[in-house]
Amino acid sequence: MKLYVLALLLIFPIIFTAQNSDAFEWPEGNTMAVSLTWDDGRSSQVVTGTPLLDEYGIKATFYIVPSLAVEEIEGWKTAVKNGHEIGNHSLNHPCSGNFLWARDQALEEYSIVQMQNELKEANKKVEEMLGVTPSVFAYPCGQTFVGRGEKTMSYVPVIAEQFNSGRTWLDEVPNDPAFCDLSQLTGVEMDGKSFEEIMELINHAKSNGLWLVLAGHDIGDKNIQTTEVEMLKKLLPYLKNPENKIWTAPVGDITAFLQEQRKK
Ligand SMILES: [Zn+2]
Repeated sequence: MKLYVLALLLIFPIIFTAQNSDAFEWPEGNTMAVSLTWDDGRSSQVVTGTPLLDEYGIKATFYIVPSLAVEEIEGWKTAVKNGHEIGNHSLNHPCSGNFLWARDQALEEYSIVQMQNELKEANKKVEEMLGVTPSVFAYPCGQTFVGRGEKTMSYVPVIAEQFNSGRTWLDEVPNDPAFCDLSQLTGVEMDGKSFEEIMELINHAKSNGLWLVLAGHDIGDKNIQTTEVEMLKKLLPYLKNPENKIWTAPVGDITAFLQEQRKK
């Protein structure tokens, strides 16, 4: 028994050393990455959100549904001009028909071809509206299937073919840059969270060198599906402070960096 313990003590430092030497290297000595993302193209994102982000010079990713974003088109044009990334979030926001509002565009009734066409069409609409072509996608409701039962299919391959990355929703963990599937990046909810709660996520990600993609909807005062301005006013300067060694960038930038790393 004693020998067994001794053997473990001898082996463990070797294992830890091996892990450390394999630690993923983020650029410029950073220890982790953060992307701030919001979905749907809701008006509050450019009425309240982007002006606040711009105060701190932080660029975010907005996955928009063109028919929603059109309500605040001038705000979106300014957001693009100021360097924020526009991603694709489909045309019709198809989700499981168990969301009663999605019953007319239920994923259970969708086909792969229909999804391919819709996502191409959505990109075309964004180009017409804002003059940029989305290269990143967020799955509406975070759901990645079409069809039902034995005929269910994953549409992750569609995303892998048409986009550089895809993000899901309501995930529990950040992305491991050395391992993650860029077509199914995790998105951890930031709506309704306090700065302290976000810091717990950041500290966990930092201790493991991970990429935390935070995801939200509206931006404003405490409300359902809303990222709180009060939280952002603490988070943004924290992310901006070089002492905290966090690379904060839109999903597309970090996706491109990882794609380059993987070619090596
Ligand atoms: Zn959505």
